[in-house]
Amino acid sequence: MSSMDLADPAGQQVPPADDDWLDSMRLAIRSTTELRRMLGLATTIAGGPDSTPAETSIDDENHGFPVFVPREFAARMRPGDETDPLLMQVMPTHAEGVEVAGFHADPVGDLQANVAPGVLHKYAARALVITTGACGVHCRYCFRRAFPYQESGSRSQAYEPSLAYLRERRDLEEVILSGGDPLTMTDAALDALISKIEGIEHIGRLRIHSRMPIVIPSRVNRSLIERLRASRLTVWMVVHSNHAAEIDGETAAALQRMVDAGIPVLNQSVLLRGVNDSVEDLESLSRALIDCRVIPYYLHQLDRVAGAAHFEVSPARGRELIEQLESRLPGFAVPRYVSEIAGEKSKTRL
Ligand SMILES: *Cc1c(COP(=O)(O)O)cnc(C)c1O
Ligand code: SF4
Repeated sequence: MSSMDLADPAGQQVPPADDDWLDSMRLAIRSTTELRRMLGLATTIAGGPDSTPAETSIDDENHGFPVFVPREFAARMRPGDETDPLLMQVMPTHAEGVEVAGFHADPVGDLQANVAPGVLHKYAARALVITTGACGVHCRYCFRRAFPYQESGSRSQAYEPSLAYLRERRDLEEVILSGGDPLTMTDAALDALISKIEGIEHIGRLRIHSRMPIVIPSRVNRSLIERLRASRLTVWMVVHSNHAAEIDGETAAALQRMVDAGIPVLNQSVLLRGVNDSVEDLESLSRALIDCRVIPYYLHQLDRVAGAAHFEVSPARGRELIEQLESRLPGFAVPRYVSEIAGEKSKTRL
């Protein structure tokens, strides 16, 4: 369905049909060959069979983390440009296969924080529930690329041990649904899980961490909005966008639908070399977000996961970028630059 189909005569966006997003998941691009073809990129590496490919060039091996790119996300990339900032987040490169000292499978201590099946409880008053291993896009820099999820994603029926922990810990006031991506759960599965959380008296706030509204904006359907609006919990949404080019008209409309429904929306980004490590890129991202009434919350230092070293930006450079942003943007449009350090009581400011 095109955006023209969705526009009413007044040019207002109307929400997508409830199941459109499932088609987007089913039809997502799952190979480098398909992605190359769609973007008009060369399908063979120049230089012949004996040449050593440059580390940053495309690698048709997936390094244990399959390619998964929704077509509507790929459509926001510049055709023919191997350095496109959206493409670089999702296309495997030879650099992923290079071992770099200091980059590990569990860089943020998640395995130690795994207090109950599917629950990470590191910080006061809030705990994070891993709802599913599935995502709406596979980001090459993600620390979860090496996380030992039980295979094939959905835990569906198996939330009881996580819920038991949440019930028992009366010091918790907030539950964070994370993953993977919780909005890859069906509306019915999400409704069932939220209902269980609503049944825990001491929980007053629900936070959803999702990249789906960015990559597959049709996920923000009527059913989701209505369910969240009907909750007795205060619902906050935290989306994940790294570059202004990710926010096209459909995505902006999806963000606005949530804000219009009274759901505060925050954004977190990861600082990524070659993707958003310039003041211009970060500035235009913040502007695109605040134009949709989304607050830039965190700019994360890259977690040092094996295979992602080529994305790293030094903290000194990151701090310089934040200082430059402060001189260009309203205060609320400048994200907090943070790092996740195993054993700390909160994210640590850099
Ligand atoms: C990041 C994170 C949170 C949320 O932290 P905030 O600073 O409140 O956004 C909660 N639990 C875990 C395990 C996290 O990694
Ligand atoms: S958890 Fe988030 S960052 Fe990681 S692959 Fe999924 S969508 Fe991308």
